[in-house]
Amino acid sequence: MLIVQKFGGSSVADAAKIMRVAGIIADTFCEGNDTVVILSAQGDTTDDLLEKAAEINPHPSKRELDVLLSTGEQISVALMSMALEKMGLPVVSLTGWQVQISTNFDYGNARIRSVSTERIRQELDKRRIVIITGFQGVNGMGDITTLGRGGSDTSAVAVAAALHADKCQIFTDVEGVFTADPRKVQGARKLDEITYDEMMELASLGAQVLHNRSVEMAKRYGVNLEVLSSYERKPGTKVKEVVKNVEQMKISGIAKDTNVARIAVVGVPDEPGVAFRLFRELASAKINVDVILQSIDRNGTNDISFTVSETDYDKAMEIVQERKDTLRYKELFGDKKVAKVSIVGAGMLSSSGVAATMFEALSEAKINIQMISTSEIKVSVLIDETSADRAVQVIHNKFFN
Ligand code: ADP
Ligand code: ASP
Ligand code: MG
Repeated sequence: MLIVQKFGGSSVADAAKIMRVAGIIADTFCEGNDTVVILSAQGDTTDDLLEKAAEINPHPSKRELDVLLSTGEQISVALMSMALEKMGLPVVSLTGWQVQISTNFDYGNARIRSVSTERIRQELDKRRIVIITGFQGVNGMGDITTLGRGGSDTSAVAVAAALHADKCQIFTDVEGVFTADPRKVQGARKLDEITYDEMMELASLGAQVLHNRSVEMAKRYGVNLEVLSSYERKPGTKVKEVVKNVEQMKISGIAKDTNVARIAVVGVPDEPGVAFRLFRELASAKINVDVILQSIDRNGTNDISFTVSETDYDKAMEIVQERKDTLRYKELFGDKKVAKVSIVGAGMLSSSGVAATMFEALSEAKINIQMISTSEIKVSVLIDETSADRAVQVIHNKFFN
């Protein structure tokens, strides 16, 4: 079999952990598998590099930041290869540009365009274990690009898809995908299986266990994906197209996102074109708007509230302020201390009252809902950030106890 294994930052944080992971890789290889490994930077290396950059220049160019951030993964692959060499195994480390993981030009958040399999195949043909840097690629100019925080998962899935790997295993510091973050929520349960669609929603709505683009890509190319523990050798969570829903669970999980801010444009004229002008300006600045709420007409005016990521908040506020004359609103309010809590589950399609159950849990806990948004398989609410952890816990208790 051809197996792609990815190990996250905490799994390779120090020498002892590297040796343990080397053991997992060695076993996979010695069982006769073609073994390709993707690694993240050790522990908090990426954050430390960001701090180092900020000490020198608080606003470095994204290009230079990528040159810096990509070094974390290069350290990991070299050390892991040395560990395997010490065990007497044939191994080679490769960076994203050596492999030719081609991306677009979006430094800091690049998207993978293609993965060349030539070099990897050559090395596998020589019966070597191939260890590749996650989180990075090379653009059309030959510059190093990075894929966004948590992007090593996407590197792994892209390599697995390109090689038509039999399996792509994402090893991390928890046993798999849980009904909620197992480090924060009491009683969180491990899922044996989850669909690509549900996992994609959970990842996009704040469950950091998988990079959302990795799930999108796994679905597109039908990659056989599993999330499992690098500490305990037992089955994890399979992410796939169809699952057998033995338990008939109404929801599969709950996610929290605190990188959210709310903007309220109050007292805009109630006439055609107002929402269009507002959101066109934000779109042309590449600001993603998420939840939108428009009030009903009150004496010829209404209010439009919407959310953006906290990262885009200052820019969005500036744009709306600058357009006060054309948008003709009375007041503008912004709030960064909000969080989005979401429930996700394909079971919602067939059972009614799922949203009501979520609202009931929040009502009993006296947590006020500011905004609501729904889709086929998710319900999200916007609430005060300080209540977010409690909200996730009470909703979890309601659905899973
Ligand atoms: P890695 O360094 O291996 O990429 P991450 O920190 O990116 O690991 O992701 C694993 C973490 O995701 C876990 O430690 C856990 O706290 C968090 N997490 C959040 N939501 C979930 C969930 N639903 N299931 C499992 N883990 C979750
Ligand atoms: N090292 C990178 C990060 O911390 C990529 C990853 O871990 O997936 O975001
Ligand atoms: Mg991660």
